[in-house]
Amino acid sequence: MDQQSSLVERFLRYVQIDTQSDEESASHPSTAKQRDLAKLLVAELNDLGLNVDYDELHCYVYAYLPSNDSENKAEDLGFIAHLDTSPAVSGKDVKPYIIRAYNGEDDILHPDEFPELNEHIGEDLIRSDGTTLLGADDKAGVAEIMEMLAYFRANPDVIHRGIAVAFTPDEEIGEGTAFFDLDRFHAKQAYTVDGGKFGILEYECFNAAIATVEIRGRSVHTGSAKGLMINASLLATEFINLLPEDERPETTEGYEGFYYLDSIRSDCEHARMQFLIRDHDLDKFAARKEFLQDAAFTINERYKTELCDITIEDQYPNMAMFLKDHMDLIERAQEAVRSVGGNPSTEPVRGGTDGAILSSRGLPCPNLATGGYNYHSRYEFASIPEMEKSLEVLKYLSRCT
Ligand SMILES: [Zn+2]
Repeated sequence: MDQQSSLVERFLRYVQIDTQSDEESASHPSTAKQRDLAKLLVAELNDLGLNVDYDELHCYVYAYLPSNDSENKAEDLGFIAHLDTSPAVSGKDVKPYIIRAYNGEDDILHPDEFPELNEHIGEDLIRSDGTTLLGADDKAGVAEIMEMLAYFRANPDVIHRGIAVAFTPDEEIGEGTAFFDLDRFHAKQAYTVDGGKFGILEYECFNAAIATVEIRGRSVHTGSAKGLMINASLLATEFINLLPEDERPETTEGYEGFYYLDSIRSDCEHARMQFLIRDHDLDKFAARKEFLQDAAFTINERYKTELCDITIEDQYPNMAMFLKDHMDLIERAQEAVRSVGGNPSTEPVRGGTDGAILSSRGLPCPNLATGGYNYHSRYEFASIPEMEKSLEVLKYLSRCT
């Protein structure tokens, strides 16, 4: 009974390897230890007899399992997961712990704090010891992909498509696709396996831009400042007050976009603010950019001087617009979820994914669930039955039907 499934055994092994990325680092990968997991996966993929292509310098693992279909009519399909864990919480010395038949009573996972847990009563769950994250984000995805490959190698009678896989570094610091080489990845369509709750499929995300606002003030001795001083710090607050209060991250949800004051540094002479602009809708996104431009204009009008400068840079696009012509990927994934008794649903991502960048580069890439929860947290956990179902989804998608 206490025999671990090979998926769980694999997952437990992977999470004990520290692969935390580091947003302060200027190197690629941001931390060398991400290669520890990459190397292990390369060895395991070689053992499985796959064609492995390891970009050791940038820490990307690509592998390909050719189709065993003699007619080979179905297109190749790809799966992508990331090696790193979030810089937000330590991933060192992770001690995974299995709760058998969770009954709501646990030292760390309390349903009153995390109501989602009520939906997992009776399930076997995996968590950390509460001092680190677990790393289900995204080692659940890595383990599920590896287990799927092992399954097809062990069951050559099951006819499958050509399967391309890639494991990437630094997703958590927004650099997961920086050195992703589409030429080394065999498939023209793929899924990232980096979602959470089983059944949820993600293929819409924000359009994202970052605005940098610079304000020039004029410092004068406070004793003789009358009529002369221009306090850049106060102008910064004037600028902020021009923005709608109900369009902030803390007041929005679902498809509602926002402006987020990400940072502010100021003194009398100079103020610098950065705002993140987010909206799923492309027209509204454009309108938001214009609104910030207008706010800068308003400040300059008020003071009859060019005190306020704004530059806006795009960060990533909503992948939905690149998936319009690939809705079969979504439909097949929904079918796959139903095939294991799940209830497929879609949710707009209130952020970006590597899939968004890859989709914009020509590799359509919706995001599949893995069965993990409470990411980037000491309360992170994975549902074993949902991980097993997620694995079945990957197999279903890869099979030739
Ligand atoms: Zn992730």
